[in-house]
Amino acid sequence: MKELNIETKCIQAGYVPGNGEPRQIPIIQSTTFKYDTSEDMGKLFDLEASGYFYTRLQNPTNDYVAAKIAALEGGTAAMLTSSGQAANFYTIFNLASCGDHVVAVSTIYGGTFNLFSVTMKRMGIDFTFVSPYCTDEELEAAFRPNTKAVFGETIANPALVVLDIERFANAAHAHGVPLIVDNTFATPILCNPFKFGADIVTHSTTKYMDGHGAGVGGCIVDSGKFDWTKYPEKFPGLCTPDESYHGVTYTERFGLEGAFITKATAQLMRDFGSIQSPQNAFLLNLGLESLHVRMERHCENAKKIAEYLSTNENIAWVKYSALEGDKDYALAQKYLPKGSCGVISFGVKGGRKAAEAFMKKLKLASIETHVADARTCCLHPASATHRQMNDAELVAAGVSADLVRLSVGLENADDLIADLEQALLS
Ligand SMILES: *Cc1c(COP(=O)(O)O)cnc(C)c1O
Repeated sequence: MKELNIETKCIQAGYVPGNGEPRQIPIIQSTTFKYDTSEDMGKLFDLEASGYFYTRLQNPTNDYVAAKIAALEGGTAAMLTSSGQAANFYTIFNLASCGDHVVAVSTIYGGTFNLFSVTMKRMGIDFTFVSPYCTDEELEAAFRPNTKAVFGETIANPALVVLDIERFANAAHAHGVPLIVDNTFATPILCNPFKFGADIVTHSTTKYMDGHGAGVGGCIVDSGKFDWTKYPEKFPGLCTPDESYHGVTYTERFGLEGAFITKATAQLMRDFGSIQSPQNAFLLNLGLESLHVRMERHCENAKKIAEYLSTNENIAWVKYSALEGDKDYALAQKYLPKGSCGVISFGVKGGRKAAEAFMKKLKLASIETHVADARTCCLHPASATHRQMNDAELVAAGVSADLVRLSVGLENADDLIADLEQALLS
């Protein structure tokens, strides 16, 4: 059969039941798995046989769902994590150790920015933040001999800047390191970063993938394309024996297609234990089954609302890359031809105070830290998710004090516009 379309993969990929087995993914609500002999179990511990022994490392329900996400992204291997934060932490820490360096785009999600610039810095990993619009010379100057990866978001949360994936991938590859792309806002429905040269993709599945605000979760997908063995001195963890796993060399044993995810599971999941609960993985899969249908409506609703806002006299500016004239319109045409997701940001005339007053008057859109689910919600990042940043960091993150982030849900667009209108007029 020819390669299936992504809509079919949303429904059918990852789990293929055998004769008489459950049609829906079973929730394997068990911490442990039983074996007949100690020898059988020993082989699992040595990574000589594949199988399950303890849910802190791996669980079949999670693996079915991870396999579906790998299929959606066109990757060779994937793992679920307990949150998007855990996914981004594991991805970087799987490559970089104390004394290493990473180049990251400055407009990334506030939680990731804090993880990198505060917590991972305390682990001895240095980050250089570059503007997504930096010149080639500025990007080049950010690399050091100890750089291990480049990190950016397809659509930045909440700045909504579109990453020029090809440009950042080329720069990363010229320095022998992978490009990691957080594809949370685009989802594989709107963009497959691997097609543009990205090597590893991460997700906060908490957002559109779950889509109903039901479960926090994350995912890491490997393209299997980055050749770690070309740079063994840069990636010793992947290319030399792991003494904590009986001397296994991940690239030798699992090939380029499996090395990265197996190492992250065997070392990081084992030691940090940020596993997603099988219950949440089950809920995530329900979300994935309708992801293609929902993303289309999120995009359609958001485009209508962005157009409405851009002609409203009480609105200072609108950022939505699917709008003609947007700074990222050309990038969106290239990377997001099916739409720019359901999140819009805009400024209310009158600044911070006016933004807060406007948000209070909304009846359908509720104030939440969340984004990207079925119900429309909004947030004032400068007083919530980004409040740990100083003014200079806010500017670098693309978050002005008057910025309102509106996550357009799946309601009727005219009802949402009427709600915005009453809040802007009164
Ligand atoms: C929400 C978010 C995260 C963090 O994910 P959690 O599931 O909340 O831990 C990371 N990256 C992006 C782009 C996000 O929107």
